[in-house]
Amino acid sequence: MSDCLFCKIAAKKIPAGIIYEDDLALAFEDINPQAPVHTLIIPKKHIPTALEITKEDHGLIGHLFQTAAKIAGDKGIGEKGFRLVMNTNADAGQTVFHVHLHLLGGRTMHWPPG
Ligand code: AMP
Ligand code: ZN
Repeated sequence: MSDCLFCKIAAKKIPAGIIYEDDLALAFEDINPQAPVHTLIIPKKHIPTALEITKEDHGLIGHLFQTAAKIAGDKGIGEKGFRLVMNTNADAGQTVFHVHLHLLGGRTMHWPPG
């Protein structure tokens, strides 16, 4: 956990483009955006992957989705649409092992995803 990039961002040890913060969650702009809107929403609690989410985290995970939807609305893409993604482990391309929602929007998304 001490080596976790997103824990360091949450602790303000590494700078990031933080656009939202509360006691449970943090949102910041992805450093390598894949769409006009590409924001990451993370819990302050260190959870490595979706596989480690427990029942006690249910409220927290719901809060991440509500935060993401609020940011989408604030960025003006709520009605047009957006995508929320949580990559999990190697086949999905997860590179940072601290759960995060990708909020992607501002362009048409493709389906199925690559
Ligand atoms: P994932 O591949 O799903 O684990 O997503 C990790 C995301 O974190 C990628 O989209 C990266 O571009 C992004 N990322 C990595 N380092 C940083 C950073 N220092 N600040 C903001 N985003 C980052
Ligand atoms: Zn972490």
